[in-house]
Amino acid sequence: MPASEIPFLRPNPPKLSDLQAELAGIEASGIFSNYGPVNTRFEQEMRDTIFGGAGACLTVCNATIGLILAIRHAVATRWGDPHPRDRRFALMPSFTFAATAHAALWCGLTPLLCDIDDETWIPSAAAEDELLRRHRSEIAVVVPYATFGNDLDLDRYHRLATDDGIPVVIDAASSLGTLNEQGEAFGTGCPHPVIFSLHTTKPFATLEGGLIYCSDPDTIRALRAMGNFGFAEPRTASMPGLNAKLNEVTALMGLAKLGEFEQVTAHRMAIAEAYRAELPDWTFQRLIGERHAFTFMAALLPDELAEYRRPIVADLAAQGVGAGTYFSPHLAEHPYFQRTCKSGELATTQRIARRVLTLPMSDFMTAKEVSLVAEALRRACNRAGATALASVKIGRR
Ligand SMILES: *Cc1c(COP(=O)(O)O)cnc(C)c1O
Repeated sequence: MPASEIPFLRPNPPKLSDLQAELAGIEASGIFSNYGPVNTRFEQEMRDTIFGGAGACLTVCNATIGLILAIRHAVATRWGDPHPRDRRFALMPSFTFAATAHAALWCGLTPLLCDIDDETWIPSAAAEDELLRRHRSEIAVVVPYATFGNDLDLDRYHRLATDDGIPVVIDAASSLGTLNEQGEAFGTGCPHPVIFSLHTTKPFATLEGGLIYCSDPDTIRALRAMGNFGFAEPRTASMPGLNAKLNEVTALMGLAKLGEFEQVTAHRMAIAEAYRAELPDWTFQRLIGERHAFTFMAALLPDELAEYRRPIVADLAAQGVGAGTYFSPHLAEHPYFQRTCKSGELATTQRIARRVLTLPMSDFMTAKEVSLVAEALRRACNRAGATALASVKIGRR
């Protein structure tokens, strides 16, 4: 790509060409999948290096399948299998990725979409409480999303699970690298399954992959059997199952990524700091916790420019800067989810999603490029502002 182009995301999975000896080792072993030795080492090193050695980890072929497994397991364990039809809702925020709603739907549940907090963009506790009050006897599982790698109050969700008996599954797809206020990796010690993505566009980049962490090894054992066709005993299905296994080559890439991950996270933190310094008047997500994993840099357009977001994104593209609008549309705006989900009050989600603009981030990005993005953004906004002003003058608004 030309030096002047700054893509929105630039995947950086470990180079297979640097791993030729290890690849030859996999070939010599004759084991390519089915929780093989490389995968086992990767799971153990993730537990020991990221989660302080406690609990257990399970790889999956992607986080979406991981969410399906964990939701299905949580619901079957708590409500029986098949679960009662009146327990039909999976409570989740509307401001998240399509995968989370799809996962609940594949489990036979109806996503019940709640609002987010105005500043942190994580699920609003008040909104969740309100929907729990209204639909308590119909909610089968709660699936909060740790928005863009922000920290969640996991103790609050644990209280919900223990006091109200409603199981919890944490969507932490973009949270590998996040440290909570105690400086521990997000999810550490959590007795409910926490699902991370190892997709190539996420900071912990492999090709396709996911990781489930849980402090309870029995939950991981059950999820592992479910991910292998429901075989708790060899070739005998004793629980719901599918094929969720990660292959040995991707596990090898995971081990390589783990070796450089501190550096990846620190670099992305520095890029995020540079954005905040370059765009002092802009509104960003309020971050909770000691450190954050950044997949991209989310910012809010000034309210008066929100309706010009599409031309602003096009203007940025013309200047060689890639940008996205995650998560706009939010779930309740997707045609399929409008037919299949139920929504609570979503006023804050609407306000945030309408203004959100996601700016470039990658392992390769430099502070100089952040300045270039900020300049390009100011130019695009000035041009959109001029259009806005002109349309006021000619009475279009
Ligand atoms: C990336 C992402 C997923 C899906 O992860 P995959 O590994 O690609 O399946 C799910 N939920 C959220 C919020 C995500 O950002």
